[in-house]
Amino acid sequence: MFDKILIANRGEIALRVIRAAREMGIKTVAVHSTADSDAMHVRMADESVCIGPPPSPQSYLSVPAIISACEITGAQAIHPGYGFLSENAEFVQIVEDHGITFIGPTAEHIRIMGDKITAKDTMKELGVPCVPGSDGGVPTLADAKRIGEEFGYPVIIKATAGGGGRGMKVAMNADEMESAFMTARAEGKAAFGNDEVYIEKYLTTPRHIEIQVFGDGKGKAVHLGERDCSLQRRHQKVFEEAPGPCITPEERAKIGKVCADAVAKINYIGAGTIEFLYENGEFYFIEMNTRLQVEHPVTEGIFGVDLVREQILVAAGEDMSFGQDDLEINGHAIEVRINAEKLPNFSPCPGKITAYHAPGGLGVRMDSALYDGYSIPPYYDSLIAKLIVQGRDRAEALARLERALGELIVDGIDTTVPLFHELLQEPDIHSGTYNIHWLERWLAEHMAD
Ligand code: ADP
Repeated sequence: MFDKILIANRGEIALRVIRAAREMGIKTVAVHSTADSDAMHVRMADESVCIGPPPSPQSYLSVPAIISACEITGAQAIHPGYGFLSENAEFVQIVEDHGITFIGPTAEHIRIMGDKITAKDTMKELGVPCVPGSDGGVPTLADAKRIGEEFGYPVIIKATAGGGGRGMKVAMNADEMESAFMTARAEGKAAFGNDEVYIEKYLTTPRHIEIQVFGDGKGKAVHLGERDCSLQRRHQKVFEEAPGPCITPEERAKIGKVCADAVAKINYIGAGTIEFLYENGEFYFIEMNTRLQVEHPVTEGIFGVDLVREQILVAAGEDMSFGQDDLEINGHAIEVRINAEKLPNFSPCPGKITAYHAPGGLGVRMDSALYDGYSIPPYYDSLIAKLIVQGRDRAEALARLERALGELIVDGIDTTVPLFHELLQEPDIHSGTYNIHWLERWLAEHMAD
């Protein structure tokens, strides 16, 4: 097992990794930009190294700085968290070339899943059901129009290198194709340096259901059920839960096995998430994330496992601590993402926290790097806390969420907490009957300024 690992991240996810490492008796190294000298991950780690100025490209994305930090401190492995370098195949290659272990999948698997066309082709071959669409890239507008006619509108044009909800445009009809095609290409080029796009049938009322998988890299893999992340704003998740309120045990077992078998076949190592749209009882693969997800705690809650611990175990060449038969669902868990943003426009709202109190009690988990007097820097993601609650069933989890939100104090800045207070008044939230478009429509009605 490693003596020391470096965490190439910041915020709540850096704390999350430090906590798992500490329980395993592993020393931790935090890296930070000059804007984060006072950040909680720096305070909590055993050692810290400043790796550059505030902008991420010069610090948290600076590969030479991170490798140097490893060499200076003698860290044997790097945990990338999510975001930043977590799905950067080139980084993984460089890390391994330096004799350091990357806590995550291989560069090859990251490369395959990072290109959405290759990912879809691979999954199709592995027997995973996919959204009907173009066979690979769509080079010209004429091709796009032909495919639109073939599959029938609406269709969605997606950048093959896309991510984070960027580089996707919907064409409701043939007239909208030209602008959607051009915009998706331009966004792909601007954000990812790649203007290749592909086309999928646009599903009008799906839910977002994702399957958590975990592999040992030696041909063994399990699934840890699904998460329902249908409540989204601008294709970004804001509220996630497990198990999914609309998924039956039979459906779970079936799609779970398809996913576990698929990743076992490719000797996948570590945590992964296979994302689907779910409509009329059918699953349609959209993408695979080759890392720990923001919303992993809801899965940890219902299965009672520590996914980060498992990531570290298999990266060190050890066996996973559980098999499929050991995994049993216990209760219901919900996570809400609390952002430093001002409603109704969700504009970023960094600044100084003048008072902070985290909720507690039975079934409450607060993953956050906030503390009293902390100044949220303006350079990074606006996620400041994840509140995760668990109950014996969904109704109890929802009641607990409302109770916990009521206890939370974050003064000095605006946050998205009021949004959740309002959502909890909605009957649709309690019945669990919504699709991926529900929140956008609700926001348009309730958050108009
Ligand atoms: P990203 O990598 O940018 O997150 P995804 O492919 O995972 O992109 O899609 C993100 C979200 O976009 C989905 O959760 C869903 O809301 C919407 N979406 C993607 N593909 C489709 C589709 N074929 N039909 C309807 N909605 C889609």
